[in-house]
Amino acid sequence: MPSILIVDDSRISRQIIRKLLPAGDFEVREASSGQECLQLHLQSPADLIFLDLTMPGWDGFETLSQLKAKDTNVKVVIVTADIQTGSQSKALGLGALEVICKPPKAEAIKRAVDAYCS
Ligand SMILES: [Mg+2]
Repeated sequence: MPSILIVDDSRISRQIIRKLLPAGDFEVREASSGQECLQLHLQSPADLIFLDLTMPGWDGFETLSQLKAKDTNVKVVIVTADIQTGSQSKALGLGALEVICKPPKAEAIKRAVDAYCS
């Protein structure tokens, strides 16, 4: 069963992404911090990680770097309200697959799941 990990310090934001996931059999886990995300991913690798950028502690950039250091093949899609192109290109430069702007649209979440979570 494909495994999806939703990482955001906002519980509401995690719920929004969870509700937008397409129908299907997925294991869905949530983390409220970058540290928790890394811990969960190392325990059991996720096929796809939706990652917030703005979080206390490790932000999304640091979290992405830590994930990549441990798992070069990790698949991360950023979901952020930070629409600055500098932030987006920095995330892509660190290895994110794409950047989805908040509030996420169902089509964007579905497309990411279909593309990266097979
Ligand atoms: Mg946040």
